[in-house]
Amino acid sequence: MCGDRLYSDWTGYWDGVLRKIPGAGALFPEGYLPRVGSPEPWVCTVRDCQTIFADAWVLGGHFSASHRASLLNDNLDGTMSVMCKRTTADPSSDRMPPIVISRNAIDAAIAPPKANPRRPRRRKKAEEVGHSEAFDLNDPSSPWDPDLLA
Ligand SMILES: [Zn+2]
Repeated sequence: MCGDRLYSDWTGYWDGVLRKIPGAGALFPEGYLPRVGSPEPWVCTVRDCQTIFADAWVLGGHFSASHRASLLNDNLDGTMSVMCKRTTADPSSDRMPPIVISRNAIDAAIAPPKANPRRPRRRKKAEEVGHSEAFDLNDPSSPWDPDLLA
């Protein structure tokens, strides 16, 4: 629990309306605020991640996958830090979702700086396929001669 709400929901005012938004796998620390008005308002709450998403449920998918098995400290400043990784699954689900294990305010004087918000990286596999199977006709090192297509 984060105060009187679950970590798995975000509750707060969005355009003046009190809303409760399910994280769909994401966990929201004390003081977390979506960037209301931005096209990508949902910033990953992990301090050294800060990946941005348009929808809370997409953040939830990222959180479940990228931060799987993380044991987190709620830094009480809207971010969380990974303390260690769990090694045993939930007996009921046999899965290892990330969980909050502590609530300790971060010491801004000695903590590593928060990452800059960034868009998700493209999947590596897709990039590799793209580069190996497609040639750029405008690239002089391409084995294709554009004149042959004229
Ligand atoms: Zn993240």
